[in-house]
Amino acid sequence: MFENLSERLSGVFDRLTKQGALSEEDVKTALREVRVALLEADVSLPVAREFVKKVQDQATGQAVTKSITPGQQVVKIVHDTLVEVLRGEEDPGVLKIDNPPAPILMVGLQGSGKTTTTGKLAKRLKEKEGKKVLMASLDVYRPAAMDQLAVLGTQVGVDTLPIVPGQKPVDIAKRAKQQATLGGYDVYMLDTAGRLHIDEVLMGEVEQVRNAVDPRETLLVVDGLTGQVAVEVAEEFEAKVGISGVVLTRMDGDGRGGAALSMRAVTGKPIRFVGLGEKMDALETFEPDRIAGRILG
Ligand code: GDP
Repeated sequence: MFENLSERLSGVFDRLTKQGALSEEDVKTALREVRVALLEADVSLPVAREFVKKVQDQATGQAVTKSITPGQQVVKIVHDTLVEVLRGEEDPGVLKIDNPPAPILMVGLQGSGKTTTTGKLAKRLKEKEGKKVLMASLDVYRPAAMDQLAVLGTQVGVDTLPIVPGQKPVDIAKRAKQQATLGGYDVYMLDTAGRLHIDEVLMGEVEQVRNAVDPRETLLVVDGLTGQVAVEVAEEFEAKVGISGVVLTRMDGDGRGGAALSMRAVTGKPIRFVGLGEKMDALETFEPDRIAGRILG
């Protein structure tokens, strides 16, 4: 395992002469360590560079606080800057689901945790916000995926749209809208098909569905352990379909969570939730503080 950043920086500063303020040289030395730590946490290089520049501007010339060491002080500045970048304008846990029935489109690659997250989010909306939720699977390629959503629905006590074999995704979406309207649902969630890789057919299909229902939220589900790949996936979906937010799954794994920073910096989209396990209650609202702590190690 890596030595954590605080320890590393203390080491660096122990070798420097004590001064009244952080000199440019001190800060530069420390920031080299910060950059390495970010890269080890799977933050992309351009994002790490830009971030370090931001910290440098803030740290240089700052008076050294008596009560903490210069190393700790730089760590604090880095931490605060991370939180600032990760925190979006909006409250991550509050989805735009007024004006019922509000469509939520769930998109992402196969295996990212999309169906699981759909179930988790439906449970959360039902239990925490008292919403009446309908879920529908648009995965016409994998009947098992449709069954999986139905099983999750039963498990969390949320209705799923009855499966009609042979329908196209866009027609299932329209049927979900109709049923949600007639049935007095607050929200209907559309779990789109995933592929192992992004392809034109997948994107075309998602676009068609988007045009048919005009979703209030389009949430991209990505595996938080896949680092750079997750960011590339987000850029593609944003360019082709447009996303309103991101859910990072598998954050219960031992990844360092650097994808969160790259994701935010590159796409500008808010991270809404994080998946912390396979169980239906393992979904939490994204907290910048926590991820910052994790990135710093
Ligand atoms: P989909 O193909 O994107 O719909 O992916 P699934 O929802 O079927 O999930 C694929 C696998 O990942 C399943 O075994 C899930 O239980 C698991 N999974 C989903 N989210 C998480 C998570 O946050 N943490 C962990 N550890 N496993 C997850």
